[in-house]
Amino acid sequence: MATQLTADQLYPGSIPGLGSEGTMSIRIQKTFEALFTLEEIRGIFRGSLPTGLDPGEEALLGQRVAELKAIVTDIEAGTGTPRVTKIAGTLDVRSREEQSINIHPIQAAGRLTTEARKALISYGDGYSTCDFCRKPFRLDKITKPGIADFHGELTKFLNMDQARVVPGARRGFQAVASSLVEKGDTVIVSALAHYTEFLAVEEAGGIVKEVPLDGKNIVTAEATAQKIEDVQRETGKLPVLVMIDHFDYQFANEHEIAGIAKVAHQYGIPFLYNGAYTVGIMPVDGKKIGADFVVGSGHKSMAAVAPSGVLAMTEEFAPKVLRTTAMVGDLTKRKFGIKEVEMLGCTLMGGTLLTMMASFPAVKERTLHWDDEVKKSNYFIDALTRISGSRVLSEYPRKHTLSKIDTTGSFDTVAKTHKRRGFFFSDELSSRGIVGEFAGATRTWKLNTYGLSWKQIQYLADAFTGIAEKYQLPVQK
Ligand SMILES: *Cc1c(COP(=O)(O)O)cnc(C)c1O
Repeated sequence: MATQLTADQLYPGSIPGLGSEGTMSIRIQKTFEALFTLEEIRGIFRGSLPTGLDPGEEALLGQRVAELKAIVTDIEAGTGTPRVTKIAGTLDVRSREEQSINIHPIQAAGRLTTEARKALISYGDGYSTCDFCRKPFRLDKITKPGIADFHGELTKFLNMDQARVVPGARRGFQAVASSLVEKGDTVIVSALAHYTEFLAVEEAGGIVKEVPLDGKNIVTAEATAQKIEDVQRETGKLPVLVMIDHFDYQFANEHEIAGIAKVAHQYGIPFLYNGAYTVGIMPVDGKKIGADFVVGSGHKSMAAVAPSGVLAMTEEFAPKVLRTTAMVGDLTKRKFGIKEVEMLGCTLMGGTLLTMMASFPAVKERTLHWDDEVKKSNYFIDALTRISGSRVLSEYPRKHTLSKIDTTGSFDTVAKTHKRRGFFFSDELSSRGIVGEFAGATRTWKLNTYGLSWKQIQYLADAFTGIAEKYQLPVQK
């Protein structure tokens, strides 16, 4: 069922900087078609007998291979028209990571590595981790593929004593809150805390109390100590957990994480380090920070499929948070021995974990080059702030690749009189092959430059100043 669309209908507005007039687009389109055709070939094998293909299957294979060859020719030459535009008749092909520079605030460091994409097509089947699961039947004990070793490496990577993979950072918060928080207990978070921290505490029956920010939107150790004191005075009890983000999701400012850990410990309160925006992109040393728990997000910062993440902890808390089941069936007397209650036995049983594992060597390596990522972030912010009326709301110089910016005095002044309003800016960006900005937003908004090469950063900076110049906004040289 081939729908004939021209490249221009499919990708309105060619991407001038990214190849000559639509050529790039059709090559990407054809690459997806080749991948899909290969999957169809794979489907033939899956439907055949182990002894080989029958004549009908053989004929079908021949047909598909011929199609594939034609597609490959199109990839090479940049020719052809889009033939497959939907998956399962309804889903669009998602090619924005191939077609564009994506500055979406939460997507940058979750993009899969090439190795992860290979792992995804290879291990996409449901419980694919379980091929060689043997006694004692727990995910983190599986040795083929090397899931047990991976847990050891993750633990070492974060410099903690135990690590488990979890379906997202939020499930890490949940496991900890559910283990440590009793009904009515207080948990200290920050005034910039992520909503999932609120929800994890709420589910456990606790109450969050927020540490206020200082004048520079930083969560300090001193303010945390004050908040702990306040809670003790008001409730007669100490908080049971302090949970603070190293870099928050609103400004990506760096907070006084080691000082906060120290303060928490002075009151005998465990400290959870929220590394959703750090683990997987910069070095994180849990012991050095003084964290009792380190939580990271696979799909935000570790180049893994969602939902994935990591929860690491010290030996001290493992018996509590990683407690094993004690439940016995009343009729059958069944027990499930080493299954961990908070993990509900096993967590990431397929493509999620395998992509995390496949990306891990690259992820480890990339954390060593965080300084270069920060340089690129500052390079872009410097270019942006040369556009008169633009500023950065995050701390500056930037220590992160996620930034909150304010273009009220620049692009928003154009939006006021433009017939497309704020969408003029999205239009201008997308015509340059840049996506991921909050569509229509020209006042305060966030972007993330993580993972862009210097060439792409230069292009991005030039695009912003180019749009400014087009609309006669003054740009400092
Ligand atoms: C994204 C984010 C989370 C949630 O991460 P998931 O892996 O999606 O659960 C939690 N905290 C902060 C600070 C975040 O930025």
